[in-house]
Amino acid sequence: MKLEQFEQSGLIIEADNGYRFAIDIACYTPLEKLEGKLVDAMLVTHRHGDHFDLERINKLSPKDLYLGQECRELITDESPSFNIHTVTTGEIIDLGSIKVKLFDVDHGPNVTAEPRENFGLFIEVDGKKVFYTGEMFSPTGVDVSGIEADVVFLPVGTFYTFGPEEAVTFASQFKKVGKFIPMHYYKDPETKDDFIRLAQEKGLNV
Ligand SMILES: [Zn+2]
Repeated sequence: MKLEQFEQSGLIIEADNGYRFAIDIACYTPLEKLEGKLVDAMLVTHRHGDHFDLERINKLSPKDLYLGQECRELITDESPSFNIHTVTTGEIIDLGSIKVKLFDVDHGPNVTAEPRENFGLFIEVDGKKVFYTGEMFSPTGVDVSGIEADVVFLPVGTFYTFGPEEAVTFASQFKKVGKFIPMHYYKDPETKDDFIRLAQEKGLNV
């Protein structure tokens, strides 16, 4: 498994067999940076512009695009270049070498228009487990106290999501994790450093 992180919450997971799966690569990633970064499938967690951007999706050129109904309604192109799969909470997406389970995440009180769907993801690839918390403001969706994961992605940017302290508190609840990786700090990059410092003080692997 290879992981490549992009701005805000963007991620490409590549399985050992070369299958490439993108998540939430959107407005903060310069288009030029995606030159040649083709993927097989892509998932969008919710409709906000820092997670869902059709220009970036077209650039990544997935064969299959997975999104909730609310995002689906924003695609007006009647013959898009990708197959659209509308997905819901609780569903497991089977991509062969990659399996993705969707759960529901609280975006918190600071969003002006709360999205109808806001997914977190539990991903299995090459026998490894990746927990992608999504746009989480308060602990929601899954009781993580029994979860062992190789990698956990956590938002740390505050206001719309966890800040560094909340992210560390949530991180401490997992049963066992190989590595925590901060995300969603584009507007306040210092929150990344704060998270890393606080996590290290707690003895968490970052
Ligand atoms: Zn959002």
